[in-house]
Amino acid sequence: MTTFQVRTFGCQMNKHDSERIAGMLAERGMTVAPEGDIADVIVFNTCCVRENADERLYGQVSSLTGVRRERGTIIAVGGCIGQRDGEQLLRTLPMIDVVFGTHNLARLPELIDAAADSPRPVVEVEDPSDADFTADLPSRREHPWHAWVPVTVGCNNFCTYCIVPYVRGRERSRSMEDVVAEVHALMADGVVEVTLLGQNVNSYGRDLYGAPRFAELLREVAATGVPRIRFTTSHPKDLSTATIAAMAELPAVCRHLHLPLQSGSDRILKAMNRRYTQADYLALVAQLYEAMPDLALSTDLIVGFPGETEEDFEETMLAATAAHYDAAFTFIYSPRAGTPAASMAEQIAKEVVQPRFDRLVSLVQSSALAKNVPLVGTVQRVLFEGASKRDGAVLMGRTAGNKVVHVRSHAALAGTFADVRIDDAQTWFLLGTLISGTGDA
Ligand code: SF4
Repeated sequence: MTTFQVRTFGCQMNKHDSERIAGMLAERGMTVAPEGDIADVIVFNTCCVRENADERLYGQVSSLTGVRRERGTIIAVGGCIGQRDGEQLLRTLPMIDVVFGTHNLARLPELIDAAADSPRPVVEVEDPSDADFTADLPSRREHPWHAWVPVTVGCNNFCTYCIVPYVRGRERSRSMEDVVAEVHALMADGVVEVTLLGQNVNSYGRDLYGAPRFAELLREVAATGVPRIRFTTSHPKDLSTATIAAMAELPAVCRHLHLPLQSGSDRILKAMNRRYTQADYLALVAQLYEAMPDLALSTDLIVGFPGETEEDFEETMLAATAAHYDAAFTFIYSPRAGTPAASMAEQIAKEVVQPRFDRLVSLVQSSALAKNVPLVGTVQRVLFEGASKRDGAVLMGRTAGNKVVHVRSHAALAGTFADVRIDDAQTWFLLGTLISGTGDA
């Protein structure tokens, strides 16, 4: 077995796990399969938060039946679907060779070896409540200048639509010293931007230190000198004044916050077990904009949660208007097996939900454009990622507010910072002209 491919579904936590899978396999002397080739080992790192991830997995694994038979390709499935379904996955997809859970990542190379020597599939899925925080695995980063840094895993919140607490287990924090040491090591390796990761970073440290210490963690990470710090995700009920103050004071912490609202209706928020009201959320938003008038705010919104009436939806429209979002991930509710919401009465028909969803998407688009237009004429510090996928003569980068910026240039600026004058604003990106490029933050 010499080549591998990792196919990732889902969130940033999964992207980070995939970098670790790639790092472990590379450490074993394996290389990434060239584009278009069938790899000797194909790893699916899955997500079960969204329904179409199950469908994608079934479709993609089934389509590999022939190559597996002819070439002996090993198929491994891990991540949330591996954790949730375990051995049962083999009933529908018997061609799978390895099933591993979210807490068995470190054992994947051994499991692949075992599967190569065994006529039977190998399954290893640990109970998430028994698992330790495994952070010190090799990683093969997608971009040399950016790193995901997990600070917590698991979640204690049990939102009624969400499967995460069942597949990732209860929240566990990593020690502050450990996080800071990793950031120092990453900087020595050329990283200029870190994204601190957790299902709910705002409650970071509660299990270790008896009280959340995320604001302190931000200050400690900023003290390393890393030029840019992002973090995700923030639960509104745990976003503290201390964290807002740290964001406002620390230049390295990006002026971008992803703060999922989910619904603007208090009745639906209660049914979702979110533990805040629309008024609580909007008060937080007001506090954020007061501390950081240039803050870019993004969110997640679910339309059509069981029992959502037209009035409930209007409350979501109202809250989304008031929050002045720069971006939003909008979802039509779909039941996840094993969650309380899946068995709630009053599931809403698609034909009722779709017009609501379309109205919300259009509101978010107007809001995003309205937030981008005032940036025309300003100078933004941009971290460049490389040539645009659509046009090799266009460089793509991001502002601290996480806005995509396109600049017409062939300059080799990937992984470096430069100042860009913004000339035009579109809904989902800005167009600009390069005015300097030093590589410093
Ligand atoms: S906070 Fe809620 S939505 Fe987020 S991971 Fe935890 S249970 Fe899921």
